[in-house]
Amino acid sequence: MKVVLQNLTRIFPSRNKKSGEEVIAVNDFTFEIPDGKLIGLLGPSGCGKSTTLYMICGLQKPTSGHIFFGDDDVTELSPENRGVGLVFQNYALYPHMTVKQNILFPLQNLKGDDKLTKEEMLERAYKVAKLVQIDDLMERKPSELSGGQQQRVAIARALVKMPRVLLLDEPLSNLDARLRLQTREEIRRIQRETGITTVFVTHDQEEAMSISDMIVVMKTGIVQQIGKPQDVYDDPVNLFVSKFLGTPPINVFDGRVENGKIYIGDDAVLSVSGVEDQPVTVGIRPEGFVLDENGPFHCELKSVEVMGRDVSVVSTNAASQNPVIRSIINADNKVDTAAGTVSYSIKPHKIFIFNKETEERIRFEVK
Ligand code: ADP
Ligand code: MG
Repeated sequence: MKVVLQNLTRIFPSRNKKSGEEVIAVNDFTFEIPDGKLIGLLGPSGCGKSTTLYMICGLQKPTSGHIFFGDDDVTELSPENRGVGLVFQNYALYPHMTVKQNILFPLQNLKGDDKLTKEEMLERAYKVAKLVQIDDLMERKPSELSGGQQQRVAIARALVKMPRVLLLDEPLSNLDARLRLQTREEIRRIQRETGITTVFVTHDQEEAMSISDMIVVMKTGIVQQIGKPQDVYDDPVNLFVSKFLGTPPINVFDGRVENGKIYIGDDAVLSVSGVEDQPVTVGIRPEGFVLDENGPFHCELKSVEVMGRDVSVVSTNAASQNPVIRSIINADNKVDTAAGTVSYSIKPHKIFIFNKETEERIRFEVK
């Protein structure tokens, strides 16, 4: 089922009538979510992710704009009539019911043509329980399950009605690191097997990048960029997006373009064409640094952190906006930690420049 968001806007009135300002939680969001895809809705806390999700599921009404499931305009439909499955961060299971009863619960109030016999309900419940691999836990109470298992029950409960659209709001946030990794892969598998169009909300860029077919990066209610995770990482439209994606994060410097060269301090780090002389903000991905004795970019070497396959070289530079610069270098390269300084050349496709005021990307050609 394709899901179309058309000029979706949600404004919350100010709580304080005199002085407070209204909050534009979601601002003119337009996007056609392709059928059967998993979309990662990504951005810092408060950027409007949950509000967007609640509008898709019908718990909140847009101030303006429309939502379509396929060709049906569902903007005015109640959540029960939209055919959505919703999973929250806190699993919200009924504590006094067994796993089986929790999963069966959404099926018990189906009316009219949708009404199921007891056998049909049980068959469905066991089918989804198998899918999320909890079919051997059906008689337990939620308190007898781990966090990861509880979240699987919540997912099973959302799937049992065979929703047209699956909506997940930070579903992994309450899990510990290992379970989070495992469960996100599970979610990806379940989504692939069922082919249900899914929107996955998270503030964790790594999580979104790793499982999404496409990501939507939001900031203060405004969509910044939509694309395949790798494409957005490789080709961010602005400084915010470049900083939000990637671990370690992109290294940011005060710089300038002068006579067809990008300067950081006195170092001309790359020759470019197509850009007028101007002050710019420079971003260099950690993997964009190449150790090079004769390289143009000079930094103060602080330490080398072993990461196994790679090493993380920590250095400083007066023009850096971050306390330290992190570059990721293949461990085969030996870094002389006693040297005090380190020189780099920069991979041209790993360096971005941004307008100092608007923070929009400035495109260049490499000379
Ligand atoms: P996210 O899920 O990305 O953290 P939300 O969608 O929950 O963000 O919130 C977006 C913005 O809308 C925030 O500024 C939040 O304070 C505001 N907001 C959310 N719900 C309400 C509400 N019921 N009343 C007033 N403001 C709200
Ligand atoms: Mg939220």
